[in-house]
Amino acid sequence: MGRYREALCRICRREGAKLFLKGERCYTPKCSFERRPYPPGQHGQSRRRKISDFGTQLREKQKLRQSYRLSEKQFKGLFNAASRRKGVTGEAFLALLERRLDNVVYRLGLCTSRNQARMLVAQGHFLVNGRRMTIPSYCTEMGDEITVRPKSRQASAIQHAVSLGRQAPSWLSWEPETMTGRVMSLPGREEIDTEVAEQLVVEYYSR
Ligand code: SF4
Repeated sequence: MGRYREALCRICRREGAKLFLKGERCYTPKCSFERRPYPPGQHGQSRRRKISDFGTQLREKQKLRQSYRLSEKQFKGLFNAASRRKGVTGEAFLALLERRLDNVVYRLGLCTSRNQARMLVAQGHFLVNGRRMTIPSYCTEMGDEITVRPKSRQASAIQHAVSLGRQAPSWLSWEPETMTGRVMSLPGREEIDTEVAEQLVVEYYSR
């Protein structure tokens, strides 16, 4: 477990940004990136390499991929789906990432990290439109209702996350009494707080 934690923080330090991969700890002074905001490794502090255009695009792609904790295959698959859509590819891509069920559960504040969200979804703690859904990559649609399964409402991980009182973004609504979230609209770029230059990711895959 210790090793796993260290690895996650190394990702943030390598990408030069807080990616919020470890839940609550990310919001405390214990955050490794706050304490050591330079790349990991022996030469992390002294490294001053000039980075090429390709290197910049690659780092931005990795930053976004790691934020959502996806494999390259899953990430590229979503990018391809976004590129077939009308409109700005980068924005469509971000919207598809946000609409994944694991991300929606995370955004609703029902868990403290996307890793945890994926695990809770796979364990069957949530219903989508009244039916148990265990596929973290399920792409939510406008009007979808995401409910914590009655049996899971007392689960400590969910109770704890809810007690932190994180605000859902404006494209989602949350009813605490029924522990139900709803997709009110599809997310626009201004509603996605992921700090990434998505155009660089598009350029990376368009080489
Ligand atoms: Fe670790 Fe901070 Fe990154 Fe969270 S935001 S994973 S605590 S370095």
